[in-house]
This record gives sequence, structure tokens and C-alpha cells, in this order.
Amino acid sequence: MSRALFLQYPPQSAARVPFQIQQKLLNRVHVRQFPVLTQLWFIPCGVTRCSVKFGAAGVLDARLMKPDFAIAFDIDGVLLLGEHAIKGAREAVRLVTREKIPFIIISNASSRGRLRIVRRELGLSEEELPQEHMVLSYSPMKLVAPLYRDRIVLISGLNRDVNREIRDDLGFQRAIDVADLCLAHPQLTPVSRRTWDERCPRCTCDTPHSVGIPGVPSAHPISPTTPLPTVDDDAALPPAMHPAMKLIEAIEAIFILSEPANWYESLQTMTDVLVHAHRAGRHVPVWSANPDFAFASELPGEPRFTVGAFVVCLKALYRHITGDELEVRETGKPSPLIFQYAQTVLATHRTLSPSPEASPSDPQSPPPATPPIRCYMIGDSPVADIAGARAAGRPWYSALVATGMWKPPSSAKDQTAPPAQGSLGAFNPVENPADIVCQDVYEACDWILKHELGAHELRNEAAL
Ligand SMILES: [Mg+2]
Repeated sequence: MSRALFLQYPPQSAARVPFQIQQKLLNRVHVRQFPVLTQLWFIPCGVTRCSVKFGAAGVLDARLMKPDFAIAFDIDGVLLLGEHAIKGAREAVRLVTREKIPFIIISNASSRGRLRIVRRELGLSEEELPQEHMVLSYSPMKLVAPLYRDRIVLISGLNRDVNREIRDDLGFQRAIDVADLCLAHPQLTPVSRRTWDERCPRCTCDTPHSVGIPGVPSAHPISPTTPLPTVDDDAALPPAMHPAMKLIEAIEAIFILSEPANWYESLQTMTDVLVHAHRAGRHVPVWSANPDFAFASELPGEPRFTVGAFVVCLKALYRHITGDELEVRETGKPSPLIFQYAQTVLATHRTLSPSPEASPSDPQSPPPATPPIRCYMIGDSPVADIAGARAAGRPWYSALVATGMWKPPSSAKDQTAPPAQGSLGAFNPVENPADIVCQDVYEACDWILKHELGAHELRNEAAL
């Protein structure tokens, strides 16, 4: 029985597909999806929108020809600069969506607000870029969040609105926001001089409220927006213990969701939790979303502190008081954890809805969720995007672009890193070298698609 696969390919590469590439594609398709395939025919169209036909079996579900690779985009410096699209970003995402390449966003941001800007600036609909396809710095916390669903945890972040959004996304039922804790128990942070960015919900004035300054009444008293969980009286705790300290004792994990709005309050309360646990011989795990020490600000050449710097302070306080080292598990780039989590998200792209008629034993049933065989991380930061993809190992490959933090040196003379693929490959950074180095995200996507068609070779690519 003759079984032939008709594989469409882009009209712009309508010149005859070289025999070696045919063989390469045939081997890939043959081994991975169509073990009984004996012939491969090429007809011009899209690289992945394939009509798959078997000579004797009629038309096979074309969805089975989903690409076995995927692309992950960083946002800042790749797709957006500030709140505006970078040159080539729209075209790149259009190319990827047109060819139905699975793609996600991986960002060290912690707010979904960036997702709305990405959609607006790149002209993507919610369907084309659903929220589930955005991997934020805190997203890997979802792997452990179910353990703490009904337990008391301390959360801290930029503001209470974003914190609540993340808390609900993680499914925490008994989370305490540091801001709420300090509002309910100002004795915890007696020298707080916070002026709140978060206005009183009923207030329309533009003046920040002063809170917690002894002897200075607040014009608009602010109360915790979320009631604090109640703590059962533990027989082991002294009966006269202050309610604030009972809460401190009850906290079982700390989640730093983004840069704390008020470092003093967060450092004080987190240190309270950790030191009390240390004295009692308990371990309170600390998770931090963003390893970045600083970020590029509006002050040229003067990066500003962010979450990584906060964690340095927390560790120093813990070491100063206990003499021990504090372990903080980080989830954002370059942590391999976020790339592993992204693979599970990408696997859902490849999960196909079973048809109502299909039974589990039906050979035509959709295959189970499988991660892509190659994932390309396109980023602008050698220390976050490229180092992260390298640390995660295969199936990750890295593509560095010159539209954000990294700029090519004026000369490649001092360059000792092996040159990469791409038009800027000669400028591959010595530290954290990438697999592909391009001018912008469009060039990177174009290169990747052509590579997947067999036109380019990646150095050090695992054998297919
Ligand atoms: Mg970036």
C-alpha cells in the first residue's frame, strides 16, 4: 500500500527543495509522526499548514502536523521598548501566528498589565495571545502553590492590587499581604514612614496619605483591604503573646511576588517570621519571583535596585541575626525553573482536543501533551534570557537580539566566543554566548523558521 505525505512549503522558497532537506524532513516526519510513511511530496503553501494525505487512507487530521518546535519571546527589549512596539516585532509575531508556530511570552514582569500592552501594540487578539500563554516571573510558583492553598503565607509585592491578582492566580486562600499585616498591627513597624501609593478607596485627592507617623493623624485612615486570617490558639504559644506575633508564628512560607513597595516593612516582617522559625527549629521556605538585582531606569546608565537587591538585604539581616545562611528559591529568568515551567505551558499548545467520536484506543486520537522538541528563547539580556536558556539545557536554544539591553561592540576583534548564527553572530558575547545573534526579533524568527525548514544548521544541535 502506497503511503505518501504531501508537505506544503512556503512559496518564497519555491525553488526546488534540495534532496538533502527532503531527506531530513522525511526522516523527522517519518520517525516522529508517520512510521509507515514511504514517500514525501512537496507542494507550495505554508510551512506548517499541511495537507496530510495518505494514498490509501484518505486525509489524515492535519493537526497532527503541529510543529515540533516553539518560540518564547521576552517582552522588554524584544517586543516592546517602554510601551511601544520595537521595529519588526509586529511582523515577527504575525509571521509566527500565520505559520501557527506555538509561542509564549516569558517575562520577569509580575503584572499582567504588560500582556495588555503587548496585545495592543502588536495587534494581537485575546485568542491569539491568551493569558495562559504568558509566563511571568512568579508563574513557576504555581508548581508549589497547591501545597499552601489553605495555609497561612506571607506575600509581598509592588502594590496590593497586583498582589491580590497574583494571590488569586496562585490560589492562596489564607495569604497575608505585608501591607495589610502592618496596617492591622502597626506595632510591627513602629518607625514606618510610608506614604502610600495606594490611595484610600473612597478618596479622590492626589495627596499621598501619611500612615504610621506617631502623633500625626492620617487624613484618610486606611484599613486592611483583606481581613487577616484568624489563628487558632496554640497551646504551645504563651497565652499573653501579642496577636501580631501569633500571626508571625503561624506563617508557613514567604512569597516575594515582585519588588516590595516598602522595603522596611517587608524586611522587618519577613525577618520576624524567619527568625522566630529559626529559634523554634522550623524551616520557612522563601520564594522570590525576580532574580534581577537592578533594572534599566530613565536615568541613563544608572540602574535602580529591584527584587534581587531586596533579597540580598533579607539574607544579610538573617545572617546577622542567626549566623546562618538563608536559602531563597528564585523563579524568574535566569532560573531554570521558569524554563521548565514554560515547557509545560508549551506542551498545552500541542494538546489537541479529542473529537467526540474518538476513543482513547483509537489510533486517530490526539496524542498526549508533549513538550516541543526545540524551544527558542528570544531575548535581549545575556545574563537573564541567554544564561537562563543555557542553564535549562535542551530543548532550549537561545537567540540574542540587539534591540534592548545588549548592544554589539563596535568591533569583533576582541571577541573570543565561538561565532553564532545570525547577522550579528560574530559579536556573540564571551559570557553567556547565544546560539543565534540577530539585529531584531523579526530576523530571529525568520532565521528559526528557515532553520526548521532545513535551510540553516544550528551548531551543537542535538542529533535529530
Ligand atoms: Mg528583556
